[in-house]
Amino acid sequence: MTNNELMKEDLKHIFHPCSQMKDYEKLPLIPIKKGKSSYIYDFEDNEYLDCISSWWVNIFGHSNDYINKKINEQLQDLEHVIFAGFTHKPAIDLAKRLVSLTPEPLQKIFFADNGSSAIEISLKMAFQYFKNKGISKPLFVSLENSYHGETMGALAVSDNGLYKDIYEDILIKTIQAKSPSLHDEDIAIDDMRSILKKYEGQVSSVVIEPLIQCAGSMKMYNASYIKKLRALCDEFGVFLIADEIAVGFGRTGTLFAIEQADITPDFLCLSKGITGGYMPLSVVMFTDDIYNAFYCDYDEGKSFLDSHSYTGNTIACAVANAVLDIFEKENIIEKNQEKIALIEKQTQRFKSLENVFEVRQRGMVCAIELKGYDSNRRINLEIFQAALKEGVYIRPLGNVIYFMPPYCFTNEQLIKMIDVTYDIVSTKI
Ligand SMILES: *Cc1c(COP(=O)(O)O)cnc(C)c1O
Repeated sequence: MTNNELMKEDLKHIFHPCSQMKDYEKLPLIPIKKGKSSYIYDFEDNEYLDCISSWWVNIFGHSNDYINKKINEQLQDLEHVIFAGFTHKPAIDLAKRLVSLTPEPLQKIFFADNGSSAIEISLKMAFQYFKNKGISKPLFVSLENSYHGETMGALAVSDNGLYKDIYEDILIKTIQAKSPSLHDEDIAIDDMRSILKKYEGQVSSVVIEPLIQCAGSMKMYNASYIKKLRALCDEFGVFLIADEIAVGFGRTGTLFAIEQADITPDFLCLSKGITGGYMPLSVVMFTDDIYNAFYCDYDEGKSFLDSHSYTGNTIACAVANAVLDIFEKENIIEKNQEKIALIEKQTQRFKSLENVFEVRQRGMVCAIELKGYDSNRRINLEIFQAALKEGVYIRPLGNVIYFMPPYCFTNEQLIKMIDVTYDIVSTKI
């Protein structure tokens, strides 16, 4: 079948995510037949360099031989089993490995199957921790310009009007503090302090995306803010939830972003890169102190009874173990440093363009923010289409172009991604 025939079949029934379906009248959907390493291929054998890791998940490229092998091995034994009352080896191995890779106080893990659910779990646990001790702290604080997912709780702590405003009437009450990505760090921390002071005793947790607010136009800030925030949370007896769903697994240059701040959050939420883009999986990691607040006789009523059908899916856990194997065996974090330096060097030239406001980078995430375009002009779609013609897949957020390539990109592929984009930004828009 041709791309066009498949698109027509698709549009008869499918409502796509993060899409105005009417846009597909002008902007064709692209049916993808296969993927290999850095490329995806459509049904007419056009190849596209996947510069955003298929929405930030596919960190080792498509159809990775090692991961494929590990999935096949797991399939011979067990695909899935109920995770209440039963367990399996891939989950046990994964838990042990994640605990050894993260700060020592994070000893316990709760499994879920997507990022938003991980956020819901951390918010519910933070609230219930205090409730179990006889205190009600119903408020949550997050940052301006934050994004934590699309389910109701996750949306409530997000600050992206486009996704959130319409639901305002039905969302739980949350407070947004000034973000260090938009304000001076000291102003942001002062604002957080005054919020925690004003609502003292009512806030159960503060949730942040360490170092990069990815969906929030890839706005970035320094690790020093996280250090100061950790101290503030301790001062006010409030939990710190680190949402590393997007930045975990090497995106910021270290395995986890919190390493750069040298702090331990009370909750660490992980997903996206955890399975290298193969399977939906997420985890929430937390301390023994939090775990113990739920540990009692059943009839005391303090249990955490959250569950999802696919919690701790066996294949997903086996894939996550394969992902950790690759990080270890191939020394990915160290090898990425060269790619990070190359991206930095190659993107310097954007800075002298008149229509570029800023070039920013943290590790394997680089963003080029444009300026001077009418806000009604959908410049992101124009850039997307122009790049696609050259076999490069990027998906700008408004007027912010960003690169989040898989770690398997060769130097040549990184250079092609940047050259094609430079040509568009400097001459075509
Ligand atoms: C993607 C994302 C989420 C939500 O994860 P889903 O799996 O899409 O539900 C939450 N927080 C951050 C920082 C994200 O980037």
